[in-house]
Amino acid sequence: MDHRENATELRFILDVHLGRLAKYLRLCGFDTLFSTLFEDREIIETARLEDRVIITRDRLLLKTAGDIAGYLVKSQYHDEQLREVFEKFELKNHVRLFSRCISCNSPLEDVSKEEIADRLLADTRKYFSSFRRCPQCDRIYWEGSHYENMKKSLASLL
Ligand SMILES: [Zn+2]
Repeated sequence: MDHRENATELRFILDVHLGRLAKYLRLCGFDTLFSTLFEDREIIETARLEDRVIITRDRLLLKTAGDIAGYLVKSQYHDEQLREVFEKFELKNHVRLFSRCISCNSPLEDVSKEEIADRLLADTRKYFSSFRRCPQCDRIYWEGSHYENMKKSLASLL
């Protein structure tokens, strides 16, 4: 099977040091598990059970994981880490910005402005019309300045 066609199905699990990378992968729509509480054993077991690729800077973790798919990140900077992962797994054409919650990894749902109007600041209410909500943690997303900033930092990748 063509690797490219499968990239959208790729799912990741990151080690405890890769929090910022996790956020950016989620921002780009990729299913990415991350927790600062994960233990190595847990990461390996979850990767095995859920067919996830382990992304880590820990050589020993990958060695322990044996034949489970993994990638050893070289850079210590999240933007370069993201570039590494994008190149390694050919993710560029599979990006779906803001389709997944940055804090908890759940797929976002469209939500009407009326439903959440009381939670928005006046300016947000005035200038934006389309919103998404995380069904898991209830966080609300819209294409405001936060969105623009993150898009800018991804511009060289996309
Ligand atoms: Zn969430």
